[in-house]
Amino acid sequence: MSEKHGESVNESDKPDNFIEKLISSDVSASLSGGRLQFRFPPEPNGYLHIGHAKSICINFGLAARFSGRCNLRFDDTNPSREEQEYVDSIQDDIRWLGFEWDQLCFASDYFDQLYQWATQLIRQGDAYVCDLTGEEVRQYRGNLTEPGRDSPHRDRSIEENLDLFGRMKSGEFPDGARTLRAKIDMESAHIIMRDPVMYRIHRSTHHRTGDTWCMYPTYDWAHGQGDAIEGVTHSLCSLEFGNHRPLYDWFLDKIGIEEQPRQTEFARLALSYTVMSKRSLRTLIEDGHVEGWDDPRLPTLSGIRRRGYTPESIRNFMAGIGVAKFNSTIEYSVLENSVRDHLNKIATRRMAVFNPLKLVIENFPVDLQEMVEAVNNPEDPDAGTRQLPFEREVWVDRDDFRLEPPRKWRRLAPGAEVRLRYGYCVTVKEVIEDPESGELLQLRCEYDPDTARGQTPDGRKVRGIIHWVPASCCVEIPVRLYSPLFSVPDPDHVPQGKSLIDFLNPESLVETTALCEPSLAAASAGDRFQLERVGYFVADQKLSKEGAPHLARIAPLRDSWAKQEKRQATS
Ligand code: ATP
Ligand code: MG
Repeated sequence: MSEKHGESVNESDKPDNFIEKLISSDVSASLSGGRLQFRFPPEPNGYLHIGHAKSICINFGLAARFSGRCNLRFDDTNPSREEQEYVDSIQDDIRWLGFEWDQLCFASDYFDQLYQWATQLIRQGDAYVCDLTGEEVRQYRGNLTEPGRDSPHRDRSIEENLDLFGRMKSGEFPDGARTLRAKIDMESAHIIMRDPVMYRIHRSTHHRTGDTWCMYPTYDWAHGQGDAIEGVTHSLCSLEFGNHRPLYDWFLDKIGIEEQPRQTEFARLALSYTVMSKRSLRTLIEDGHVEGWDDPRLPTLSGIRRRGYTPESIRNFMAGIGVAKFNSTIEYSVLENSVRDHLNKIATRRMAVFNPLKLVIENFPVDLQEMVEAVNNPEDPDAGTRQLPFEREVWVDRDDFRLEPPRKWRRLAPGAEVRLRYGYCVTVKEVIEDPESGELLQLRCEYDPDTARGQTPDGRKVRGIIHWVPASCCVEIPVRLYSPLFSVPDPDHVPQGKSLIDFLNPESLVETTALCEPSLAAASAGDRFQLERVGYFVADQKLSKEGAPHLARIAPLRDSWAKQEKRQATS
């Protein structure tokens, strides 16, 4: 077992949530001898998304906090949708989040045991082979207002059921011809209890068991039994499994498990401006609207990782939003704020200019490069400083200049003095424009040689500080600017006749370049930076090459979402 980092999930001073209270009281009552076993049970039919991260943080976080154990169990009972690629990516993503499982388990390892238990249920008169088609099963089931009807095969003898079930297993019947069903109560108020299907005949090569099986257990028949086999004490899942709970308990009673796992449900995570269901994600990927499961605009963990989000910021986000019993949608900005909070502490500061305007310092010697000292991270003294060449010609951002500045303008304007960050103070003396187009070409300035290292000789206040890069040795680096993938807060619920594709934001990915200070040329894939006054950026894992980074925006410095909301409200 390797090191666990789950502790940080509970670092906040929040009062215990309802699951933590439940665990505490179960521990005090010495339930299961005080033993605690959790599990995270993904189906390997896609990549994990941030919703799964909530379940991961809950399960692994509880194990860490209460000195329990947590397994990773692949719920691989539906071979037609499952692949090894997903098994691998899920493990990578959990480790990236900072968690390590005690045991790696597969529901498919329990197929033999499940088969034995199924024959036990048949012998007890609790299960039968049914010949109704899927459609007929649905018709017989009834609905919320109408009771179901018994299947005509419900009263088969135990011998006949055992014989038919054995022949189902040995492949005598075609796909879909027969099912094994639990014999419960076709009039139950819980529709799930109306003789639910336990096995379906379905020939499909399984990524682990190959063609050994031609019938596969359903989720309900596999899940609780998997929990029981692993000695799970608390089976935590999202709310939609709440109505499966009576069946979960019924199966465990019938197979005679003494120390039974208990299922408890919590709210699913939903985020604004994005989609989370595998179905929607797959549509975006297969139709080429994004670059794949790890597209940095997606809420998949591989996308989020490539985007430059840190695992700490995800864990802090989960700790911050808490665990409730009601579904709700969390504003995407809450997640982004958590990312910014962490990056503010750890990201190296650098300067880059996106919209360059040449600034010439007329009284600065030609050919002189004076090294100025720049702080790498004001939040982290250990990050040290770096030397930046200050010279006669620098690039500044066009947006930092106004010919006719508004009141309280603290940046460049004719006659106004500002500091070039870490360098000298300059005053614009002349504005050069193209005589024909009027386009702004250049600012000609004077600098005050007595203003090095943040000083002013007479103690005068220079209020504006702007970023810049040296013109002779800056490097032009390609940059991706990401914005929300959707232009509406809830793309999964769009008006009738529309699809989520209609609400894709055409500007979710903008390619541009920036003039960067020289040291950025050496950025390695995965390095994160705060480009001062602009935002947080990462050297993209896929696009960066050695000595040729490709930057991508992780998040703007301030909350761009608030602006977006405002625009929404006024439009
Ligand atoms: P999806 O269809 O969105 O991918 P799923 O429920 O089919 O989700 P599973 O692989 O079956 O995905 O889920 C594994 C575990 O993760 C389950 O216990 C489920 O409750 C939990 N989970 C999935 N989505 C969320 C979510 N949005 N919030 C919290 N937990 C989730
Ligand atoms: Mg599922």
